[in-house]
Amino acid sequence: MNSKSCWKCKSLIEEFRHFCAECDTIQPPSEENFYKFMRFEKKLGICTATLQNRYYELSRKFHPDYYQNKSSQELTFALKYSSILNRAYFTLKNPIARVRYLMMLEGIHENRDSGSIPVKFAEDIFEIQDCLMEYKSNPESHCEDELQNHHQKLKLDIDEIDQHIHKYFQNYDASENDKEKLDVLNNISLLLTDRNYLDKMKTELDGVL
Ligand SMILES: [Zn+2]
Repeated sequence: MNSKSCWKCKSLIEEFRHFCAECDTIQPPSEENFYKFMRFEKKLGICTATLQNRYYELSRKFHPDYYQNKSSQELTFALKYSSILNRAYFTLKNPIARVRYLMMLEGIHENRDSGSIPVKFAEDIFEIQDCLMEYKSNPESHCEDELQNHHQKLKLDIDEIDQHIHKYFQNYDASENDKEKLDVLNNISLLLTDRNYLDKMKTELDGVL
């Protein structure tokens, strides 16, 4: 079903329109889809300036102050919209959160907690683990400097993975069919698995440094 009726004036309303075009009344929120909610195509490259403008525009329209003289139902809708709006905005604004969300929409499972050490970074990770153990048993050891260096390197490695993931955004958006899109997302998924591991490691270092 691509359309429904305005609950107040019964005019037809397209899906994911937040207000009735005829009477401007706020409509019950549709099923959650951040892309449709923000009126963006399901792509990985999005114009963040446009996203921000839409966020501000909708934030104003859903502001509870405007609903003080309206029915409690309308206020409830506005509050629900505000909550969706915030989540949609922060998810789409951050490239990594965005690609995770799109993968979720496409039914691609992200391996968030892979136990296996990423081969490319194995040597560094073993060193960090040794260092961490030593540091924990003897905080006076020289390991702190070494851990600081590893921490710095982890940040750079994560940045590098992010740039790599970013390069795939264009490939995804230029893909001509679902098979191509899926291939790109699967490649991104592998990079995300490495990223998750490094990020976990970095968080662990954050906790001791
Ligand atoms: Zn209406």
